[in-house]
Amino acid sequence: MSLRSKKFVQKIKVIKYKEERKEIEIVKLEPKCSVPKKPKKVVTEEQLDQPTTSVVQEDVRTYVSRKTKEREGWETVQPSMFRARVEEMCPSTWECCFCGKETMHIIHCPDCGPTAHYCEECCTQIHSVVLFHKPCVWKNDMYVPHESSSETCIRRKDHNECPTAYTKTLAVISLSGHQHKINMQFCKCEMESVTLVRFRLWPSSPEVPRVAFDFKLMELAVVLQLEGCLSLKSFCDAIIQSQNGFPVMVRPDEVKDIYRSLVGDSFNEYRFHRSQFNNRESYDENHVQMANECPICCESDVTKIISLDGNFGLVHKKSSGQGTGVPRRKEKFFMDQDKVDTFVSAYGQDAKKQNINCSDFQAGNIIRSKKKTDKLDITGLFGSVCQHDIPQLFLNLKHGERLAYSVHLLQHLVDNSEQDERAGIIMYDIACSLQRHLQKEKKDLQANFKFVVPVFHSYAHNMACQLEFGQRFVEGTGLNDGEGVERLWSYLRKFSSITKEMTVSNRHHLLVDALEHYSNRIKEKLGERLKAMLEKAKKLQEETFKKNYETYNFGKKLNDLVYKIKSNSF
Ligand SMILES: [Zn+2]
Ligand SMILES: [Zn+2]
Ligand SMILES: [Zn+2]
Ligand SMILES: [Zn+2]
Ligand SMILES: [Zn+2]
Repeated sequence: MSLRSKKFVQKIKVIKYKEERKEIEIVKLEPKCSVPKKPKKVVTEEQLDQPTTSVVQEDVRTYVSRKTKEREGWETVQPSMFRARVEEMCPSTWECCFCGKETMHIIHCPDCGPTAHYCEECCTQIHSVVLFHKPCVWKNDMYVPHESSSETCIRRKDHNECPTAYTKTLAVISLSGHQHKINMQFCKCEMESVTLVRFRLWPSSPEVPRVAFDFKLMELAVVLQLEGCLSLKSFCDAIIQSQNGFPVMVRPDEVKDIYRSLVGDSFNEYRFHRSQFNNRESYDENHVQMANECPICCESDVTKIISLDGNFGLVHKKSSGQGTGVPRRKEKFFMDQDKVDTFVSAYGQDAKKQNINCSDFQAGNIIRSKKKTDKLDITGLFGSVCQHDIPQLFLNLKHGERLAYSVHLLQHLVDNSEQDERAGIIMYDIACSLQRHLQKEKKDLQANFKFVVPVFHSYAHNMACQLEFGQRFVEGTGLNDGEGVERLWSYLRKFSSITKEMTVSNRHHLLVDALEHYSNRIKEKLGERLKAMLEKAKKLQEETFKKNYETYNFGKKLNDLVYKIKSNSF
């Protein structure tokens, strides 16, 4: 063999070897069934010696590569997922999943689930008890809505043979937003709307409803409104837009406009019904008491810390109207507005000139409120929360942030508390002005409270005021920052775009529901939060003690030194 051919053979061998290696590598890259083990991160001493910036860079690099890898993963699988979804738009089986009968016209019910394939008989039987589904049947190479041959009638089992019974056709809107024409048996023993509630359906009107909504749909609309501030109009639009289940040819709907059927009082009444039900209002007086109060502050031996503030975002347009009748849940959270208005107008204008001595951020509000009030009949909301951030008392503002509003609220607190538990701490961003004002005008009211300016707001006040009223310098508030109302506003503020367009009574109702929702959310997490706060306080106490000890030692050494120098020089 010549040298040349020898080299050639070697070269081939190398290529072959390389190819084998490649194959091995490819095999390794292929996903396995078992969960791949994470490579252990070994930190060498050299790495430890390097400055921290390279560790950060390393973190960024691993984050980017992890994200890129994830993205590539999606890109690989995306086409197959798309294909699978299209494939599943035609039947995967011709066999009824109950009786096993084979049929060319297999019925699939997306509401029953992805594996639900029925024959005609089984479908009818199942959907006579499992209500408000939209099965579809395979005909002419496509799924079309399935019209059941036998009409089912929903009836109360306990009034089945009732002599006053009659049947009526209604439209039911289910969670998926689909409409169902159903037959329902009512009887004269109770109102139709009451019978509907037994079947977890909410009537569109109190007396002769023609449309009913699934409770699940109502519940979703309420929580999306209270949690995400979604207007009812947007909710209805979204429900219609969402393609839950299957793109089937939809029959023309009975109810053209879902929003129309809900927007009247139906939706508001559902919210009212829901809060009554959740609070067990008409059954248990104690439960109502519990639902209204802070579980910790209601103990009488606790010093109450209440923070106050006004919000000028939650306005109401004059043109949106007052609304008819007494607002739903009138007594909850809100003080009697007539009394507030009478008190404030009798209190006089001079009250608002009191501040601006030590802070200037208030001035803006006065200018702003003057400019905008002509078109507004409510210029904002004034409210209070306890030290655990649970909403307490609220009232509507009709002017700027006058001291009269806070004076009225404090008077209410004193009038409604028991003799022995009067002392409390008031945290308010103009607490200094309020205290000076009360000292001059209402000394006996002032004596009930201690006044404190919340942590972050205190920086807007001058030094003398900070030392006298600043939260960090006043005894008794511990680590309470007093900014609880601000946290509430950041939740409640979002509602202003909906509430300013509502009637005054509907605005009241929605704000009460929102406050209750906020309150419940805090109560749920109160235990965890208190524990975390206690731990934080303990840690801070320890650190402060250590620092103080060091300062004390340093001071002592300094003293000794001074003493030495002094004794030397003399
Ligand atoms: Zn069957
Ligand atoms: Zn079904
Ligand atoms: Zn009956
Ligand atoms: Zn509390
Ligand atoms: Zn001040």
